[in-house]
Amino acid sequence: MLQLPLSFFLKGVWKKNLTSLKKLGLFKVEDLLFYFPTKYKDFSKIKKISELKIGEEASVKGKIIKAEIKKTLKTKRTIFEIIIDDGTGLIKGVWFGKSYLSKILKPGKEVYLAGKAYFDDFYGFYLLEPIYEFESQVKLHLARIVPFYRETRGITSRFLRYLIKKILPLAKKIEDPLPKEILKRFQLPEKSQAIIWLHQPKSFSEIEKAKKRFDFENLFLFQLFLALKKKNLEKFLAPKIEIDQKFLNQILKSLPFSLTFDQKKALSEILADFRKPYPSNRLLEGDVGSGKTIVALIASAMVIKNGFQVAMLAPTEILASQHFQTAIKFFSDFGFSFGLLASKKCQIFSQKEVASIKKENLKREIKKGNIDLIFGTHALLEEGVSFKKLGLVIIDEQHRFGVEQRKKLTEQEGFVPHFLSMTATPIPRTLALAVYADLDLSIIKKSPKKRKVITKIVAPQSREKVYQFIKEEIKKGSRVFVICPLIEGGKDLESHSVMAEKEKLKKIFGEEILGVLHGKMKPEEKQKIIEAFSQGKIKILISTSVIEVGIDIPEANIMIIEGAERFGLASLYQMRGRIGRSGKLGFCFLFCEKITPSVRKRLKAISEAKDGFELAQKDLEIRGPGEVLGKRQHGVPDRVMEVLKNPEILKLSKEAVDFILKRDPSLENYPSLKKAISGLEETLHLE
Ligand code: ADP
Ligand code: MG
Repeated sequence: MLQLPLSFFLKGVWKKNLTSLKKLGLFKVEDLLFYFPTKYKDFSKIKKISELKIGEEASVKGKIIKAEIKKTLKTKRTIFEIIIDDGTGLIKGVWFGKSYLSKILKPGKEVYLAGKAYFDDFYGFYLLEPIYEFESQVKLHLARIVPFYRETRGITSRFLRYLIKKILPLAKKIEDPLPKEILKRFQLPEKSQAIIWLHQPKSFSEIEKAKKRFDFENLFLFQLFLALKKKNLEKFLAPKIEIDQKFLNQILKSLPFSLTFDQKKALSEILADFRKPYPSNRLLEGDVGSGKTIVALIASAMVIKNGFQVAMLAPTEILASQHFQTAIKFFSDFGFSFGLLASKKCQIFSQKEVASIKKENLKREIKKGNIDLIFGTHALLEEGVSFKKLGLVIIDEQHRFGVEQRKKLTEQEGFVPHFLSMTATPIPRTLALAVYADLDLSIIKKSPKKRKVITKIVAPQSREKVYQFIKEEIKKGSRVFVICPLIEGGKDLESHSVMAEKEKLKKIFGEEILGVLHGKMKPEEKQKIIEAFSQGKIKILISTSVIEVGIDIPEANIMIIEGAERFGLASLYQMRGRIGRSGKLGFCFLFCEKITPSVRKRLKAISEAKDGFELAQKDLEIRGPGEVLGKRQHGVPDRVMEVLKNPEILKLSKEAVDFILKRDPSLENYPSLKKAISGLEETLHLE
């Protein structure tokens, strides 16, 4: 029944609406049942005309005493006008165009009207474009809380109310994925009931309850899906890794610094994972420069010591190569062999020497198990690299592993490697626990080095001064990032595209020392530019905000952020994290078009913030989870994203997930729930 086409319910002339319905994605009964109103108006009270106030929205009922088609004075548009009388007073109904109404709304008839009351000299007291209905009809469009839908040409809310009324009894056939116990425990309406309440509410509290139910359902299913995913991992066998405490101490001693408290904590959490019989899946969060890499490398050393290989994947080859260098710098004394697999140049480090190697040969060595730790980009796994004994995969700046990636890695004999992902995006713990419920979480809050960066909010009239300052600093050896919100175009100068900025800065600094970097460039082009910047051939790098998050260039100690007021606090903070890493004093200039008090207040938070998490929490409150999680793929459906703002639902859904996991994690007794979860799995994989 739910699959019946809507044409089944449309007779005669109405059939012509089918094409427009399809445009709205409405083909079958089920589609329309889930096409929820976007707003409601309370026309439930029938008011006396004499009591109606200007600006009020209400229903009235009266006898039509006059009806005529007129033209407006100036524009000569056709209007249709009626006057009704309810015994207490008179009011007009006015419609633009719609002269066909003269055939329906004839003098002498009793009619209901609902709309907003206006008064002006030309029309007098009137309802503008009111909804109408006759006494004999069942109240559908007024004298109740009236739903309004997203409309399109030919499909009005009036038409949708009419059509939905016909199919609404079929809502009973909708399967409810939520178990009865859950509904009862959390006092939620059944799905069919909630659908009916949304389309034909008798009160606003019914609307609220129905919405809450759907919010709960969306979040709960997603959370349960993640929780089951996590649980599912327990079915697999992990590589057996013993922690050699003596060796660990030896490594820690060999480092030129001691780990911070947060680093130690994160490391011990990661190592504790290794003692479990099943593979781990952990997210390590921490600002740029908080020292995640070294923690990951120490964990890697433990894995290697147990005879397994490690793969460490970065978003770009530059970063992969930086990690390779770091490994050589800190771990050259332990007899490990490292490999760097890049598109152009592959390298190995073994017996204290770095050498170039052909890609094919490198792959062969990896397969033979002669490389302990291989660095590459996320694409490494797709390149058909196979390992002898892969014990740990570390992924930088990709929060969740693709299903395909995991599959590739689980194809090895007998066990599934441990997974550790790292991110510099600060995500407040509560939010992270909700969206990454399939992962365990470690957080490095405090960075080891206190960064010295002076942050200044710069008004348009002070730009020149900043440019002069930068000219001087460049002479002294500084390098500069200029971050723009767009790559090219934009309607006005104020939109600050990378390309327009280049034209502008050319005139101030000269073209030779400028470089441009953005996401649409080829990897080789990017590589070239970054190398030139890192070697100092380029002094000013103009780029968009999203790329090369972790790039580490000590001489770069100045940053300009154009259109700073448009960025979220956490992203500004993260961008700024690229400078001041060398211990040298850094300068971050936030260029703004308009500095309103609220912009100033928001941006001031940046200069005062203790850490990125504090700002992320602020962003979460002000701008919502979308901003905090970033635009990159985070695998959270929009409908879930909206609910994440709601702490009450978050709490309820967590309780419900725990309830189900305790009772029946196989979902054997909850077939509808099981079906919904596998449906969700499919859609998430497609996204
Ligand atoms: P992340 O990967 O989190 O961005 P890195 O691992 O690149 O951070 O660390 C940034 C810098 O800080 C590196 O040069 C690293 O060697 C150094 N570092 C890491 N941990 C410490 C520490 N505990 N004390 C001092 N310096 C550290
Ligand atoms: Mg890093």
